[in-house]
Amino acid sequence: MNTGTAEWNSWDEGRPGRFDIDLDTVARATGRVRALVGPGVALYATLKANAYGFGLVPAARTALAAGADAVAVVEPAAALALRRAGVRAPILVYAGGLLDAAAVGAIERHDLIPTVMNDSQRECLARHASRPLLVAVKVDAGQDRLGVPAAVAADFIARVAATPGLRLHIVNTHPAVPGEGGEAALGEQYGRFVAVLDACRAAGVDIPVKLFASSKALRLAPAMALNAVDPGAQLFDTVDGRSPFRALASRLIHLRPDLGYGVVPLGTSDGLDRVHAGVALVRGERVPLMDRINLEYAKLDVRAVPGVAVGDEVVFIGEQAGARITPEEAVLHQGRGHPSDLAMAVRSSIRRRYLEGGAASQMVAAS
Ligand SMILES: *Cc1c(COP(=O)(O)O)cnc(C)c1O
Repeated sequence: MNTGTAEWNSWDEGRPGRFDIDLDTVARATGRVRALVGPGVALYATLKANAYGFGLVPAARTALAAGADAVAVVEPAAALALRRAGVRAPILVYAGGLLDAAAVGAIERHDLIPTVMNDSQRECLARHASRPLLVAVKVDAGQDRLGVPAAVAADFIARVAATPGLRLHIVNTHPAVPGEGGEAALGEQYGRFVAVLDACRAAGVDIPVKLFASSKALRLAPAMALNAVDPGAQLFDTVDGRSPFRALASRLIHLRPDLGYGVVPLGTSDGLDRVHAGVALVRGERVPLMDRINLEYAKLDVRAVPGVAVGDEVVFIGEQAGARITPEEAVLHQGRGHPSDLAMAVRSSIRRRYLEGGAASQMVAAS
């Protein structure tokens, strides 16, 4: 007879929801950026927000194997998680936390490249560092949010370069690209950023890594790649009709033939309300979601499904018996911008499967 523990484990894992992530597509998208910018340009894979919802550590391993040279994150905890997972590549930490003695200690121990954009951060790093630290200076070239303003950036960069204990390594910006007039706005920000770099050169300040272009700039004007780029969203694009968001699925756990509905154990607490396309696939048929989605359950109208049974697979995004619901269809239904918005909405309560080389490997959510 089986032990109680094994039984419990199999039941525990038996909650049938799954979120399948296609790492091969992430590899292909990364490879495309690599080919676009050419071999002489440093490719920083931006993996903020748990790699745009697709899983920090698996996405980092995939992007680095597919041509990225370094990674960039916002949360200090994400940088530490990457180091704990054995990622040895350079890690740029965008502005995302406050600096203090403990933070500087962690930066030093884990060889992270912190962002500096004001004198309080510059002084804090210099005060607490016990060896020279590589740093990045973030310039605000017109995004109007974070960064040292372009007008005073050259002076600030020179100050960082002259600070004992700091080694200026990267100067970066994150251009804002509005939907309308995007190219003109991008051109202006590029002009401001390059003017800062020129002023630094004139002042004899050497900047090893000059980083301007993220996804939108690379899409609109790849010539704006300087000697480094830091795309994020673009690494999770749909490539050749395949999205890294391969599937969101579960199974029917209950049927009410008298009322024509089936119940699936996914709900708002799993993020389903922000991910679905209004329909699901059961036995290859498109069936509508009914009513409001509850915290843990959703109801499907299964009257049109011949032979429907408890245990049937329910696909909210993905393929089943030749039928398909794409992430793009769900994006349209949700009125959201990008399949990444769906991935970021899927909660860690749903088991993730990372698909690679055609095979599935199961991992716990890298939340
Ligand atoms: C998010 C982010 C990026 C990457 O932006 P994408 O548009 O996703 O390519 C680059 N730099 C900074 C500072 C960011 O915060």
